[in-house]
Amino acid sequence: MTMAVSANEAPMLAAALPAAIAQLAGCSFSGLADDDVLEVLRLAEQARRQLEALDHLLIAEVEARNLPGRYVLRGSKQLLSGLLNLSSAESGPRVRQARELGPRTSLTGERLAPLLPATAAARADGSITARQADVIIAAMARLRDARLPVERQAEAEAFLVEQARRFDAGTLIGIARRLLDTLDPDGTLAEERTQQRRRFLSCHPHGDGMHRLTADLDTETAALAMTVLHSLAAPKPSEAGERDQRTSGQRMHDALRAVLKLALRAGELPTSGGVPATVLITMTAEQFQTGTGLVSTSYRQKLTVEQALRIADQAAIAWIVHNSTGGILNYGTARRVATDKQTLALIARDQGCAFPGCADPPEWTEKHHIVSWREGGATDLDNLCLLCDHHHDRIDTGGWQISMRDGLPWFIPPAWIDPEQRPQRNIRP
Ligand SMILES: [Zn+2]
Repeated sequence: MTMAVSANEAPMLAAALPAAIAQLAGCSFSGLADDDVLEVLRLAEQARRQLEALDHLLIAEVEARNLPGRYVLRGSKQLLSGLLNLSSAESGPRVRQARELGPRTSLTGERLAPLLPATAAARADGSITARQADVIIAAMARLRDARLPVERQAEAEAFLVEQARRFDAGTLIGIARRLLDTLDPDGTLAEERTQQRRRFLSCHPHGDGMHRLTADLDTETAALAMTVLHSLAAPKPSEAGERDQRTSGQRMHDALRAVLKLALRAGELPTSGGVPATVLITMTAEQFQTGTGLVSTSYRQKLTVEQALRIADQAAIAWIVHNSTGGILNYGTARRVATDKQTLALIARDQGCAFPGCADPPEWTEKHHIVSWREGGATDLDNLCLLCDHHHDRIDTGGWQISMRDGLPWFIPPAWIDPEQRPQRNIRP
């Protein structure tokens, strides 16, 4: 298939490649038949893959000659980055793939076949992509670690290369996984153990009041998180009855907040130091009276007094008002919270979030004081309605008014939404 050419022809042959591509790109494709357009596309892809495989040979040569050492560089990755203006995210994978698929050099300087000869051949003839090769390399590394007999490894590699000619990298991942489950069932268990070791979550303040949540979730936790968060992150009608304006990232964030509030409401969290899990909010008498300024939680997060008083309606939130010397003037906990009987009555009446058009069921709602308790609003049915986290958060700022008529909450839109400000109800089918 390939003709042997003398080594010193290589620069000339390589120089012909860009020239040939430039010539091809200069063609007018509009005059081509459909089939020919597709054929050129197919051949261009094959050439792209072959060029990537050519890299493997050249990187292997760079390493065999220790060229990085000659230029006092740490390795081939740095050499590639410097020579070709590549970031390490670009050069790293190329070098890694070259080590698996390029020719190797023994300690005595002898040239050896690639570690994965079948994969290397399929890369060289342009029939598989770099992503597909990565899937095969990862699977073969595991079979090597599992000390599968060499002949079995070769069979597995040939099988995966064959599948790669027919399926894309995404599908190939599934095929490789099933093969590994069969050939190396213990490895699948070991992978779970690795996941257990690597699992991790942290929440760090940024300094601007925001916090960065970082996590490596194991498969099971990720499945739970995605199921719960996606079900809660569905778009909700906006205050103006338009499409939800939140980005999907913002909706996922709000879904997480709803889950956490549910956990607090459930009252089943373990106690710490004998005190049930509680968000403790501290504010001064002046803040309490004026409703302005920032208050802090026991985790030192800053909230506006507005926010603090809004969540103070909920169970598992305790608040303390103190004077300038720290003496406690007032405190509150569960006494702002509706009784179980009231809660059942509210569920029967509102059947979920009472905001017009919202479909959230009762378990995702909070009790909203229509006249805030700070302004003397009572914790009784005529002053309470159920709102989901999203609408509870927006009801005050969005300009909506709630008014009780015949024992039912009606929502009066701001004039910019409805100039006539006709009251609306959440009608559930
Ligand atoms: Zn709602």
